[in-house]
Amino acid sequence: MSTLTKQLTNVLSQIEQAAVAANRDSHEIKLLAVSKTKPAEQVKLAYAAGQRRFGENYVQEGIEKIQALRQDADIADPIEWHFIGPLQSNKTKLVAENFDWVQSIDRLKIAQRLSDQRPTELPPLNICLQVNISGEASKSGTTLSQVIELASQVSELPGLKLRGIMAIPAPSDDLQVLNDSFVQLHRLYLQLQQTYPDMDTLSMGMSDDMSVAIANGSTMVRVGTAIFGARDYKS
Ligand SMILES: *Cc1c(COP(=O)(O)O)cnc(C)c1O
Repeated sequence: MSTLTKQLTNVLSQIEQAAVAANRDSHEIKLLAVSKTKPAEQVKLAYAAGQRRFGENYVQEGIEKIQALRQDADIADPIEWHFIGPLQSNKTKLVAENFDWVQSIDRLKIAQRLSDQRPTELPPLNICLQVNISGEASKSGTTLSQVIELASQVSELPGLKLRGIMAIPAPSDDLQVLNDSFVQLHRLYLQLQQTYPDMDTLSMGMSDDMSVAIANGSTMVRVGTAIFGARDYKS
């Protein structure tokens, strides 16, 4: 077994254990393998081990991998590609044409462009609104007070399908601080679900905090380092 396959297996069993500990069915929790900075061959290895969802942060790098794998004769099943990084207006078209999900929506303008630019022969682009839970000015994400309005605007856009919310809480050694962020996000998610019953994605938890996130209702963990090892260049 390759190191990558072993690490992927470990992450899956960590998810399983966290689900059991939280009295949840582990099938409720999806694993997004974050392959940013890693070459297409690594994605292929993870694919061969059964992984079908991948997350990318950089438009050009992501599209190169998407295209390489599309042309690969060994890739039989469709791969679900998630864009999870900051997105500027001049890159929205490439994302609308190539990705299946965008999890980092924090502005209506970007959402509108993605909706307009989504090719009509493709299904609507799946969207998560990125919420800035730690309230840091430097971090991307919409504030808690703005998210309800953004959700209502995004839900009207024909090229998009609002699936849920995503957040990256500020790293903290204080488990209570981290836990509080996840509790708040879960509460917001349940509140939004009242208005949008089709909403099914609470994207929270990464390599270092996936178990805490799962204990608090996460339905998708985004895991890079624990699967692929340390990043190949600074991100
Ligand atoms: C890089 C990244 C991850 C993965 O982080 P790890 O700590 O390597 O698991 C998850 N989500 C987002 C938005 C990221 O940019």
